[in-house]
This record gives sequence, structure tokens and C-alpha cells, in this order.
Amino acid sequence: MLELLGKGDWVITVQKSKNDNINILNVRGLKKYFPIQKGFLKRTVGYTKAVDGVNFFIKKGETLGLVGESGSGKTTIGRCIVRLYEPTEGSVEFCTNGEMKNLLKLDKQEMKKVRRHFQMLFQDPYSSLNPRMRIGNIITEPLKAHGIGTYKEQIEQAKELLVKVGLDEDQLNRYPHEFSGGQRQRIGIARALSINPEFVICDEPVSALDVSVQAQVLNLLSDLQDEFNLSYLFIAHDLSVVEYISDRIMAMYLGKIVEISPSEEMYQNPKHPYTEALLGSISKHEPGSSRRIILHGSIPDPSNPPSGCVFHTRCRYARDICKEVVPKLEAVKGISGAFVACHRSDELSLKGCI
Ligand code: SF4
Repeated sequence: MLELLGKGDWVITVQKSKNDNINILNVRGLKKYFPIQKGFLKRTVGYTKAVDGVNFFIKKGETLGLVGESGSGKTTIGRCIVRLYEPTEGSVEFCTNGEMKNLLKLDKQEMKKVRRHFQMLFQDPYSSLNPRMRIGNIITEPLKAHGIGTYKEQIEQAKELLVKVGLDEDQLNRYPHEFSGGQRQRIGIARALSINPEFVICDEPVSALDVSVQAQVLNLLSDLQDEFNLSYLFIAHDLSVVEYISDRIMAMYLGKIVEISPSEEMYQNPKHPYTEALLGSISKHEPGSSRRIILHGSIPDPSNPPSGCVFHTRCRYARDICKEVVPKLEAVKGISGAFVACHRSDELSLKGCI
């Protein structure tokens, strides 16, 4: 359970129960290159490397936070997993009924069967709900698409879900415009859960909401995770949102993972200068304080990424080696589950969030 302390400040008051050690998702060597086409004949003149060789896993019942500035490739990862985008390379293994299946090798029919086990929750509750459909039809749409239950059973399920997400069952016949932003996101959650998925990709689900409403929706997602034994990939650009819902966090920059760490460890003891800078933006230090790390400039063009470490053009700790050699994502000595891609991670003493 999260409680709002003040503007942007939350505290966890209830521990989440976590289950076994089984991975629900294994992503290996994932790449998504978008072709850049020019001229009358639309010749391919280059590629935008939105995701460039990414490896990670998610355990059953776990929440993996994925953070980075806009343009880092985090939303593309979510879309590649559910094949809204066809990846250029790599594998996405998903565990269902005790069996690991590479989603990228499934044909349309097989993919449709597996798709009922995972869902996506989108950022904008205004545009993700069809304004001409009643709430009942919106929530039962996935059930109809997968041929699950009779009409009566589908309506009963929709009523039950409305109550679970904190709305009234008699709101079934209303339209999306009759609800507030937070309520619409609750409807989106009810729709995502209607087919009983095991895994939900939450793509910035609270970014468009007021801070006080954000805490309520995060609470709801956390409660539903416990009740339905859900696993989440939680994508956000705001680290303060990801902290409280995630077990581990993955930071991404220009299509590459630069750090993965247990949530608390990343906040208190970041290992990558990019993570330190992201934490600086939510730090409680006064603007202008020397303890506050500011990230200058904007993310480089992913069609022409910098040589060596892709972060070197903005890194305050960069040395010559950083411009020439690509750092590997390697385990951090003495910290279980922590990985970083930085030539200087052993010698740097970076500032966490206070
Ligand atoms: Fe900075 Fe060099 Fe580390 Fe890259 S490898 S984050 S440029 S210190």
C-alpha cells in the first residue's frame, strides 16, 4: 500500500508477497532497428537503433521497472514483447502453463492463444478507450475477442472487475467521457485484467494523472498484483513513480541497458552516471546545490549514436577510453542482482537519492 505524504512523496506501508523463482519472461539479444528511408524510391539509407541488444528477465509475481528519458527505447521494448512491433533480432520467451515459448517464432494463431496471458496498459486513459463504446463493452471486448464465456458471464465478469478497481457496477452503461482521468485508467486496468492475464506491461500508466491520483492508481496496481499473482514490466520516465512499485529497476539509454539493480540499491547506491543524473532530477536537494547532479543536453540521435559508451557525450566522468570502447553490462561485485555498463563504475562514488 502506498500513502501520499506530500507532493510527489510516497511511502510503502505494506510489503508485497512474492512467490517463487520461476521466470515468466526471458528477453535475449533484443534489437529493433527502424529503417530510415529517403527519396522517391524510398531507399533505406540507415537505421534508427531504438533497441540495441537488450537482455533481461522478469520473475513470476515480480515488478521490473524500466526507466529512461523519452527516446531511450523503453516503450519500443514493451511493444516488441507483445509484437506490436516485429523485433529485428533476438528472442522473447514467455512462460505459460509451465512451458517457455519464444513469442517471436509463433504464427498468428499460436500468438493469439498466448496473447490472452499478457496485456498492455497504456499511458493515456483518454485515447486508449473508445469514446463511442459503453464501459461494459470496453471491459468485455477482450473476452469477446478470445471467445471466453457467454454474454451473461462476460457482463458478470465486467461488473466484478469494476468493483475490484474501485468503481460501481451500475456504471457499466456509461461512456468514457463521464469519468475522470484516474477513473478512466481504472477502467483500462479492468479491461486489461478481464481475461485473467499473468503478465501486464504498464506503459507509463500514471504519467498523465495528477500526483494524488497517481498514488491511488499505483496502490490499486500493487493490490491487484497480490490478488491475481501478476507480473509487471512497469515503464516510466519518472524514477519516483517506479521506486515504490518495483522490485528491481532497469535504466535504459539510447537503446541499451546501462544498469539493473534491486530497487532500493539503485536509489541509494547508483552505479551508473546516467542513473545518478536521473536520481538528481528527483532529489530533495535545493536547486543549485552541489549535491544535485543535473543532466545537460538531450539524448543523441539513435540513428547516429556516439562511439564507445553511448552516454559519453553527456557524462561528467567521461575519459578517453569511454569514447573508444563500448562498456559491457557486468555484474557489480558484492551486490547480488546488480549489473552496470560503465568503465569507471569500480572507482566512482556516485550520489543516490536522499
Ligand atoms: Fe561515463 Fe565512461 Fe562510465 Fe560511460 S563508461 S558512463 S562515459 S564514465
